[in-house]
Amino acid sequence: MKYIDLRSDTVTKPTPEMREAMAEAEVGDDVYGDDPTVNRLEELAAQKLGKESAVFVPSGTMGNLIAILTHCQRGDEAIVGDRSHIYLNEAGGMSALGGVHPNPAPNQKDGTLALEDIRARIRTVDIHHPTTRLICIENTQNFCGGVALTAEYTRQVGELARENSLRLHLDGARIFNAVVAQQADVKELTAPADSVMFCLSKGLAAPVGSMLVGATEFIARARRFRKMLGGGMRQAGVLAAAGILSLETMTLRVAEDHYRAKMFADGLRGVHGIVLDENMPQTNMIYFNLAPHVTLSAEEISQRMAERGILLSWIDARRSRLVTHYEVDDVAVARAVEAFKGILG
Ligand SMILES: *Cc1c(COP(=O)(O)O)cnc(C)c1O
Repeated sequence: MKYIDLRSDTVTKPTPEMREAMAEAEVGDDVYGDDPTVNRLEELAAQKLGKESAVFVPSGTMGNLIAILTHCQRGDEAIVGDRSHIYLNEAGGMSALGGVHPNPAPNQKDGTLALEDIRARIRTVDIHHPTTRLICIENTQNFCGGVALTAEYTRQVGELARENSLRLHLDGARIFNAVVAQQADVKELTAPADSVMFCLSKGLAAPVGSMLVGATEFIARARRFRKMLGGGMRQAGVLAAAGILSLETMTLRVAEDHYRAKMFADGLRGVHGIVLDENMPQTNMIYFNLAPHVTLSAEEISQRMAERGILLSWIDARRSRLVTHYEVDDVAVARAVEAFKGILG
């Protein structure tokens, strides 16, 4: 049975065109800078996001960590969202490996950090305090519902960072979902940030890899941290070849995922056991809670859904996230809605 996999957009497999490009990729030793396909991907990524330079990294988690290590020294502090991926889902890398102290500010429902909350966390010069160095924001904001931050908000955070001699890092794992949701120019969303990480291997369907982009001098230093963390890959052109197709052919098609997420949510509104979050979905994610009357456990629901060929994941015992992506078509959405109806009324 072919499963309809709604756990994440990371489950997407490379497209047939990607497989072909991977098989034919020209490669070299990328640690020596000799892989022409990686070099092409890095140039393309920098150009597309309006930055001087880019480096190909094995994962988004490593990309964010490298950015933090490059911006900060040990004992520095980074202001992060309390529901951000960096703070919750990256194994505490910034403190474990970088000696960087996270200072969490509450993520608002719309995914932002309130400017006054950021301002209140900027340390004064005092030997008792860590040194505030960095602000990290996330677009789209995953755990707030895949919500998109606006260019105007990003500009305001950038201004606040500059006024206080701080750096701004954008975790743009799904930046092209934010672009498509708002019909924005990606450069408007990235310009205020000193560094941006985005993932090739989520909605853009590449098998592996993320990009870190920024100024030439910043990326040159970032390459050393990539090597230090063991992320220097050799004939990585076989992966970069897929990433090039992600950037050239897949960024706008995530609009389809958003459209299907809307269809999906409309279908789920007719299921009694499901309570959708307000204003859901904004991009390719649907978060919902089980209604109070539901007595089936998350495991039982997952098992019954799997019997119907559908995979889903749980945030906690009563909360789930469903993600649409290019392997989820209209028929898959209809089947998933039917399955939920069958199990949860
Ligand atoms: C997935 C994700 C990452 C990390 O990417 P990996 O490639 O899974 O390490 C970082 N930030 C956000 C918001 C993500 O959703």
